[in-house]
Order: sequence, then C-alpha cells, then structure tokens
Amino acid sequence: MVHATAVPAFPVNQKVTSIIAGEAIAAARGGFDLQVICPATEEPVSLLREADPDEVELAIAAARNAFDHGPWPRMDINDRNDILHAIRDRLRAHAEELAWLEVLNTGIPLTHVRGQIRRMTRNFEFFAEVASTLSGEVYTQSRGYLTYVTREPKGVAALVSPWNAPLALSSMRIATCIAFGNTCVLKPSEYTPLAVARMVELMHESGLPPGVVNLVNGRGAVTGSALVGSADIDMVGFTGGTRTGRMIMQAAGANLKPCILELGGKSANIIERSADLDRAIDGALVGIYSNNGQQCLAGSRILVQRDVAGSFIERFVERTRKLRIGDPMATETEIGPLAYAEHLQRVLSYVEVARSEGGTVLVGGGRAGGFERGYYMQPTAVMAPSNRTRICQEEIFGPFATFQTFDTLEEAISIANDSPFGLVCYLWSRDLDAAMKVSRDVRAGTVWVNTPMVRDLRAPFGGFKQSGVGRDGATSSAEFFTELKTTTIPIDAAVLPRLGSGSGVHQ
Ligand code: NAD
Repeated sequence: MVHATAVPAFPVNQKVTSIIAGEAIAAARGGFDLQVICPATEEPVSLLREADPDEVELAIAAARNAFDHGPWPRMDINDRNDILHAIRDRLRAHAEELAWLEVLNTGIPLTHVRGQIRRMTRNFEFFAEVASTLSGEVYTQSRGYLTYVTREPKGVAALVSPWNAPLALSSMRIATCIAFGNTCVLKPSEYTPLAVARMVELMHESGLPPGVVNLVNGRGAVTGSALVGSADIDMVGFTGGTRTGRMIMQAAGANLKPCILELGGKSANIIERSADLDRAIDGALVGIYSNNGQQCLAGSRILVQRDVAGSFIERFVERTRKLRIGDPMATETEIGPLAYAEHLQRVLSYVEVARSEGGTVLVGGGRAGGFERGYYMQPTAVMAPSNRTRICQEEIFGPFATFQTFDTLEEAISIANDSPFGLVCYLWSRDLDAAMKVSRDVRAGTVWVNTPMVRDLRAPFGGFKQSGVGRDGATSSAEFFTELKTTTIPIDAAVLPRLGSGSGVHQ
C-alpha cells in the first residue's frame, strides 16, 4: 500500500484474531474471514477472523474467571493504578504506530487522529484517578446502628464500539469499566479492528492480568449479538448507532442486564446575530467536517439568524471549497476518505434525498474528483427548505451540513428541539441572555457556547432522547460500573425477638 507522504509505515498484523485471557487465538484455527480495507486505496490490508458464538463464550468465560477468581477486582487500588499508568505510558510510547494503523484503517486525517490518541491515553489516567478517589456513605441516624455503603465492581462487561473513532471510543469504554475493578469483552467495529487490536496487545504488555480485557472481532449480527445476548455478562456498554442501540438494549434487557448507550445525534449549531462571526465560521466548519464528518456530536444542522445568514453562508461555502481533501496520512490533509464503500454510498444518497425534498446544494454533492481510488466525498452543504425533511431529521454521519435560517432565538430553540436526537447543541453568541436560554431550553446532553467540541472527562457526556441512555464521566461512570452495597452493624447488641423461646425479646 503506497501513500503519498513520507510518514514511516508500521507492521500490519496479517490476520487479526480474538485475544482471550491474554493470548491471541491462532490465525490457523480457521473460521470465517473478513477483509480489512484501507479506505484511501480501497485495498485489503489485513484479514479479520470472525469470532463465532462459541469463541465469544470462551472470551466471556475468561472475563468471568478473571473477575470471580483473578487479582484485578481484589487488587489494592495503588497496584491497579500502577498498571493503568503503565498502560498509559506504553500506549504513549506507541502513539505513532497506533495513529498510523488508525489512519490506515479509518481514513481519518493523521493530525486529527493524533489528538484522539492523546485522548485514549488520558482515558486510562483519568479513570484510574476517579477510581482512587471513590468514597462511600455512612449513616448513624438509626440509634445504636452503623450503616455504611460501599461501592464494588459490578462484574463482567460486554463492550461494543463503532468505527468512527475506534481507539478513542474503545479506550473510553474499556477505561471506564476496568478502572473500577471490572473485567470485559470488547467487540470493536468489524470495519476498523487494526489499531484497537494493537492497543489490547500493548495493554497486556504493560502488565494487565490475563482475562481482564478480552477482544472478539466480527460482525454485529454474529459476534456482537452473541456477546450482548449472553446471560453470563453483568452489564453492557455500547457506543454506536441508535438503531443498533435499540437492538442491544432489547437483547440485554431479556437478561435484565443494565446498559449504557452512547448513540447518534443530529445536533443544532445556532449562529446568533451577536456572534463573533469569524469564530462562528471556524467553529461551524470544525463542527461538521472534522473527523471526515463522521461524528456523533457533529453540528450537522446549522441554524443562522436571518439578518446575518447571507454573508455567513457565503463565507462558509467559500471556505468549504478550499478544504484540503486528500491522503489521510499527509499532515496537511483536512478531509480524508469516508470509512467504507457502503457508507460513502449512503452519505451520497442523501444528496438525492435533499434535491427531492426541495433542498438546494450550496457546495459539494458528489464524489471528490482527482482520486483514482478511495472513498472520497466532497464536503457538502445544503440549504434545507424545512426542519421536517429527512436531511434535517436523520443522522447522515458524513461531511454533509444543512443550513436553515431563523428570526428569533425562540424559533432556533424550537428547531433545535424538533429532533428525535438530543446529544449536543452549539451556540455562537455574545449575548449572555441567549446563552442562558439555550442552555436551559435545548433538550441535549451537552451545550457548547462559543466553542466546538470540548470534552471535559469530569463532566457527564451522553444524550437526551434517542441519543443515549446514561452518561460517561467521573461520577456517572462510577455509578454505572459499580454496585452499591449497604452493610448495617449494631453498635450495641440489637433488640431481637426470641422466637420459639417463650421468653419475649432479647434486650
Ligand atoms: P453501528 O451501530 O452500526 O455499530 C456499532 C457497533 O455495534 C459495531 O461494532 C457493530 O458491529 C456492532 N453491532 C451492530 N449490530 C449489532 C448487534 N445486533 N448486536 C451487537 N452489536 C452490534 O454504528 P457505527 O456505524 O459503527 O457507528 C456510527 C454510529 O455511532 C453513529 O450513529 C454515531 O452517532 C454513533 N456514535 C455515538 C457516539 C456517542 O458518544 N454518542 C460516539 C461515536 C459514534
């Protein structure tokens, strides 16, 4: 595979297999293989051996054994955190290798992926810190009794992650889970397994006990459903699409297993007339086109106040035309290819949907020219005739912005809320009242004012409505990934009825 740049290449595992109890399953074992494709060249770069339900069962058994009998849940927190810090350090030392594998497999530009790699290492560091500061509760109000509440690890987690930021999102799922003493089986996306598999290998090289993190690979309907439908897991952590989230919650619900679900979005980006419009344009471009437009938190519905809309949209379109589309390995590239062929076709199909709904294509609208191979798409923006169109209601998950105009802030808030999703909302404004109103009235898990995505791991992140169930974050992750236990001990001898003794109560 040849890329146009001088970025040094790293070895690619010729066949990615499950990692169970710290050991990679032999590639020679047979089974069903899927091709792993590089979206920039459309060439296969590796094979993925799909884990069948029996292999998934082995992985769950390894996680179960590590939880029920292994050192991890019982380890002194300082020792556990030493391992989490060793993982952080080893992943950092391999940052360029992981970034290269991630770019090769996802098509996300290298400079962006480097940021995600920093996020990956911070996930382990941060949740180690959270776990080490967890505390319980004590109650003494019932006279003569001491009641205390402790948090314990919850057990074995089934974790499922998507392809749009494999390392950042898989590491988030793993770190929030294992930092509290749990064990897990992770199934990453079948489209983008390469860097995640290497990350799991590196975690074991850092001293992680076998069975704490197990990896299975394969399609959602085969490997994923065997994992989340198992009665031997204790919880499910899922990041991915809303449709899949619904199926996963049903499967887990059949066994009464709790779920945390981070799902899709169709977030509004409100540009109010008082905004610093230069910054708002920068923010709107980053909001929709970074990560090749494939982000749950994209500001994909751009709402502009009518009196500033004309010049704002004109300038946005001009900047969109100048975006540097190209080899994702090149550090100057701003937009790379979409992740896989069917996804490109799906995103492109929304251009026709837009036209049929009366939308006007302002820029883009087709495959990007000048590339013999690769799933490249022109960054696209469409003027939408109404928010009640499919292009404004459905998550497109590509470099595809819709524009709408509004007159009053109340109207903008009502458009923002007219969505089945509620992940985030952006506001660009210098008006404090407007910021306070949007923060109060928009039904979304996160509101960003005058900034594109800033993720503070301390704060909860997750969605209202069909954007999710539960939250990631310091307190919320601790709540989801631990069980509460209440212990009551009398300080004085408890008053007990002496049943069957014929002598009343024991004082
Ligand atoms: P997807 O739902 O198609 O797949 C996600 C994962 O689920 C994959 O690993 C897939 O193999 C697995 N899967 C599919 N069917 C399954 C089943 N029946 N049982 C178990 N597992 C199954 O999502 P995607 O296309 O990989 O990712 C894009 C979606 O993820 C978008 O909707 C995006 O908004 C969402 N997302 C959300 C967040 C968030 O934090 N809210 C972050 C990133 C992505």
